[in-house]
Amino acid sequence: MGKRQRRRQRERAKRKTPPARPFIAEFPKGGQPRLRVIIDAGTPSHIRELCQKYWALAEDGTWAFRVSDIEGLQEQAAISAVSHALLLSSRCVTCEEPIQVSNRSWAARVGGKYLDRNNEKYLCRGCSNVQRCEQDAERERKAAEAEAEKDRQRRKDADDAEAIALLVSQENAKTAEKAARAVLAGAAPMTVYAAMAAYAEAAPDRPIASLQALGTTCWTGDAERDLAAVRTLYYAYLIAIHPKSPATTFAVVDGEARFVAAAARWRLVGGAAHARKDVTDLQMYLSTAPGQEAADLRQELRELISTMEVANVAEYLNGLLTKKYDYPAVPENRLPQLAEAIRHGLDSGYTPGQMICFAWRAADTSAAWKERNAPMGPAEASSASVTVLANKIHDALERRTAVPEYDPPRWHEQPLALVPGRRLLADVLRPRSPEVIAGCSLCDYQGLVEVDTKDNRPVLKRCLHPTPEAPLSP
Ligand SMILES: [Zn+2]
Ligand SMILES: [Zn+2]
Repeated sequence: MGKRQRRRQRERAKRKTPPARPFIAEFPKGGQPRLRVIIDAGTPSHIRELCQKYWALAEDGTWAFRVSDIEGLQEQAAISAVSHALLLSSRCVTCEEPIQVSNRSWAARVGGKYLDRNNEKYLCRGCSNVQRCEQDAERERKAAEAEAEKDRQRRKDADDAEAIALLVSQENAKTAEKAARAVLAGAAPMTVYAAMAAYAEAAPDRPIASLQALGTTCWTGDAERDLAAVRTLYYAYLIAIHPKSPATTFAVVDGEARFVAAAARWRLVGGAAHARKDVTDLQMYLSTAPGQEAADLRQELRELISTMEVANVAEYLNGLLTKKYDYPAVPENRLPQLAEAIRHGLDSGYTPGQMICFAWRAADTSAAWKERNAPMGPAEASSASVTVLANKIHDALERRTAVPEYDPPRWHEQPLALVPGRRLLADVLRPRSPEVIAGCSLCDYQGLVEVDTKDNRPVLKRCLHPTPEAPLSP
């Protein structure tokens, strides 16, 4: 074979096998095409036929053949493997390229029944790849950030725990040596301290309950006063945070451990016996010390206990009205008169137990009165109980009738510091009581007694009026 002949043969062969190209068709045949089918190059002709039927559209854009009518079509996967379609009316929301689909159901989902729907949510393959990459990167960034945050939190938790442990160990190390010897910071801290001493004596193994746990009546019946008193005692080194305080007691702010005074449980620094001695010293000072400071504190203590007594009787009357009779509480505008009536009774010499009796009788009388008077409502009965109480006290004083002492019932929550405070006040006032002075043979009419100092100079001191039963008691 000559050179020329070989070249002709090569050229003929080239013409016979043109380079493989995919087969492309658009549907519907007439009018604006809505779908372009691309069938892979080299697809056997009978499969290509099936593909064309599968993708063919009628003029309105619906499928030209039902899948079940396409003869020889075993499974649609065979179609998807070699062909895909571009939806010419549904373009990518980002780049406006036609959306590519691999089967009819996707085509309908994107382009609607007639494959002419404007796409508002789908991305083309390229754009969704880009979006996926962006999302992956974002996810990774967030995961790394979260991990770093977790690390920071772990370190912070460890630091916080260390700071709190330090605070707790400092609290546990507090001993009586450093404690202030007497609480002269005011009547409320003194009264709460006396009450805490009584509390600790009654339950030596238990921590002193937190303000939160004790609720609204708490120590003196006033949450703000109690909180201030507890803080004063704490900073005077007289009480320390109990190691069995709840976790909510502690917080770390700017790396520094703090405590929530209302949540903390307490212990008496130096224990109950030390506190009792402190209270006795304090009481002795208030009883016997000359001068303005002690006089002012005595007056403050008298006023505090009186306020607590008045509030306690008022609270009891309100409890009776609301719990026993199901009436509303004494109306706000009558509270001053109620307090005035109770204070009048106490100042006239009636005991707290007798005042409880008066309150009980006042509620009882008002309720009976309401029963007899049909037009009278519960609110009026509550309001009337104030007047009834004032009248009963007035009448009893006028007629000098005997009034029994009642114990408040169990449902009535008395401030914890009321009884210890009452006792503290009585002990403080006893050396100055005219009756006690009159009954004592050791002192003069002012309750003063002459004693010798170390250098044998006689001075006047306040007599403690010792009795055979209490030879040393003030
Ligand atoms: Zn796109
Ligand atoms: Zn005396």
